Amino acid sequence: MILLNPGPVTLSPAVRAALGRADWCHREPEFATLTRDLNRRLAATYRELDGAYESVLMTSSGSGAVEAMLASFAPDETGTLVVANGVYGERMARMLAAHRKPHRLLGQEWTAAPDLAAIRAALAADAGLTHLAVVHHETTTGRLNDLEAIGALCRERGVALLLDAVSSFGAERIAGADWNLEAVAATANKCLHGAPGAAFVLARNEAWRGPARAAGSLYLDLRGYYAAQHGEGYSPFTQAVPAFFALDQALAELAASGGWAARRAQYLARAERVQGMLDGLGVRTLLPVADYGSVLRSYRLPAGTAYAALHDRLKRAGFVIYAGQGQLASAVFRLAFMGEIGGPDLDRLCTALARALGPA
Ligand SMILES: *Cc1c(COP(=O)(O)O)cnc(C)c1O
Repeated sequence: MILLNPGPVTLSPAVRAALGRADWCHREPEFATLTRDLNRRLAATYRELDGAYESVLMTSSGSGAVEAMLASFAPDETGTLVVANGVYGERMARMLAAHRKPHRLLGQEWTAAPDLAAIRAALAADAGLTHLAVVHHETTTGRLNDLEAIGALCRERGVALLLDAVSSFGAERIAGADWNLEAVAATANKCLHGAPGAAFVLARNEAWRGPARAAGSLYLDLRGYYAAQHGEGYSPFTQAVPAFFALDQALAELAASGGWAARRAQYLARAERVQGMLDGLGVRTLLPVADYGSVLRSYRLPAGTAYAALHDRLKRAGFVIYAGQGQLASAVFRLAFMGEIGGPDLDRLCTALARALGPA
């Protein structure tokens, strides 16, 4: 089965094999060595983060890492501006509310780009907004939010950026100081092509060493993980050992294949291939094509095509596609281009899409 949903992804044979590598105790030195090594390689995925940011690994889904980042780095005395144009941005506001952290939600239409003038005005109107939380690639639609512009605004105003890069880390550009990036949360099982269970947060070296905040949670208090992992190398709680093995192999494959920029190019080539075929069938994208990142695109369901029927037909052909979320559930279907997808798989996908969506 080829997974075209936005994580978990189809694993390479070597990553799948790594899941069964060994039985290891998470409190033995070999696991501490692996954890330290993975943290170092995660920071080294981006030249601009290497040396200036440090990673901690935790056992959770991507949402766990985002919530841990907000619990550990969003302020209690000042506030966080949450810019949301989809499910995941809105989820960050709900997380801040659950942790009773002061925040203001700048919500927008899910099909719209973040409104820079509105962000600028919100920050100018309230000097208490010292942090800004936003999603990099909003998986709800596939829009790559313009972090070059939002990050530049954060830097200009000295606002600390808290970034959900769960579906972009490893396949889109991520800057550090240029964006005034305080912390970024991501997961092993999307663009890095690892298995579900391992997630991580990178934060500025100074942010880790800054004054401890009450995280309002024991499990999600990343400073506890930092002290343990960057001390003796252990973690406060049992880690998903097989997912760490898989991440080890997945990061080796990412490096060997040319890093995040090469992966981005590979996803874009897949997306373009499918686009050419869908254009021919008259299937339209939800957003202008230039607004998508490399990772996922959303397409309007043709009139008379029910999502469930399309999904089942493609699943019988060996492909799992993804529905729209919330208000978009009956309007769109989504295809993600992450994971181990070969040329022949793409050929079969195009044939299956043409059969399912083409003239009867
Ligand atoms: C997948 C995803 C998440 C987290 O989802 P989980 O199901 O918790 O792994 C968060 N943000 C974005 C942008 C995502 O794509």
